[in-house]
Amino acid sequence: MTPHDLTIIGAGASGLACAISAAENGIKDVCLIERLPRAGKKLLATGNGRCNLSRENINADSFHGSFDVSLILAEFPDVRPFFKRLGMFTHTDLAGRIYPLSNTASSVLDALRFAAENAGATILIETKCTALSRKNGVFEITTDKGTLYSKAVVLAGGGCASPVQGSDGSCLSLAKSAGIEITPLRPALCPIPAENTKLLDGLRVKCAASLNVGGKTLKTVQGEVQFTKTALSGICIFDLSAVYPKEKATVTLDLFPEKTLSETEEMLTMAVNSRKALSSADALTGVFNRRLGVYLLKRINQNPDRPAKTLSPTELQALAKAAKALDFITSAPADFTSAQVTAGGVKGTELSPSLMSKKVSGIFLVGEIIDAHGDCGGNNLHFAFATGIKAGISAADFIKGN
Ligand SMILES: Cc1cc2nc3c(=O)[nH]c(=O)nc-3n(C[C@H](O)[C@H](O)[C@H](O)COP(=O)(O)OP(=O)(O)OC[C@H]3O[C@@H](n4cnc5c(N)ncnc54)[C@H](O)[C@@H]3O)c2cc1C
Repeated sequence: MTPHDLTIIGAGASGLACAISAAENGIKDVCLIERLPRAGKKLLATGNGRCNLSRENINADSFHGSFDVSLILAEFPDVRPFFKRLGMFTHTDLAGRIYPLSNTASSVLDALRFAAENAGATILIETKCTALSRKNGVFEITTDKGTLYSKAVVLAGGGCASPVQGSDGSCLSLAKSAGIEITPLRPALCPIPAENTKLLDGLRVKCAASLNVGGKTLKTVQGEVQFTKTALSGICIFDLSAVYPKEKATVTLDLFPEKTLSETEEMLTMAVNSRKALSSADALTGVFNRRLGVYLLKRINQNPDRPAKTLSPTELQALAKAAKALDFITSAPADFTSAQVTAGGVKGTELSPSLMSKKVSGIFLVGEIIDAHGDCGGNNLHFAFATGIKAGISAADFIKGN
């Protein structure tokens, strides 16, 4: 059987970009293998259906993991020209997040799918790749629908995050079977399980959130925290989950990051003094959502029904302290189903700058399968597209040179 020039395992963000890039660089016989009934399913769920596909001034500091992203970001600082070539336009919000001009994720998927198909790439859907080996310089790719052969292979199957959208870790197993080292995997950009949140379930609070371990602050972010019965959630919590350490950590919320402790105390004192006749819980509604006020009073061991006028200066100081440093004991996120990305993956030192495996020439690795994950805000899709485009160029060079 004549081998394909290039076979890409996984028709997600990185795989589709790679197919287009390989075709743009002269490789016409490209085969994409996709285990789901459609290509790029995850893309449709990104950015709450709007697909935050990149960000302005993308920076290596927003990435974590053993792969050094700076080279790839320096070569591909902007993916907009790529999408413009595909006939898709974008807009940028005030925070620098880039979305399709249509504000619809399907526009991004359509742009990629039309271009890949237009370039002559074959997409084999509902086909799962289960094994990969190389014989006489040709790759043998085993799928649940039969065997394929290829001169070069791109592993673009993502990590383990959100397996319902296709990335079930099977592509990482293929890399491992080829002798490629994988760093430990864990869910990231996800809620952080926390104790003592039940009373706040459903509430959203603007604050500064810090992740602390052993008296050291690992990261602080500002934004909106959402409480669930068992976890802290919201974009700023997702960003903290990206750097969650091996040890149990504490998340501390500062509900008034723009105020000092004494300013907070002063505000609480004024609120209480002007509502002396009310209960403490009612008096504090001028400052907090009622449920949050009640919760804080309980955290300082005060009865919310107690008359506001009886709160002493020391108790108001304790309340201010609780509002400025509301601690939650948390545990490491363990659930890939609610994670947007996978932390860990193909170890950075396994890759050459062309994104080819150093151990097995002809295997390229792109997107989330690599041990690099970015903070929220378009970093991860940018990385998937940029590595896909780069590997398309590199694989074309490799195929032409062999
Ligand atoms: C709900 C959600 C929202 C997100 N929102 C954003 C956002 O707005 N901005 C952003 O930057 N990032 C976002 N992300 C992260 C981003 O989507 C991923 O980092 C990115 O899609 C990774 O691209 P990829 O090509 O590496 O993998 P994927 O997009 O996961 O694609 C991998 C593909 O490979 C297929 N596959 C896997 N194994 C096999 C196999 N053995 N055989 C055949 N096929 C296989 C899968 O079915 C899948 O289609 C979001 C993630 C989720 C889950």
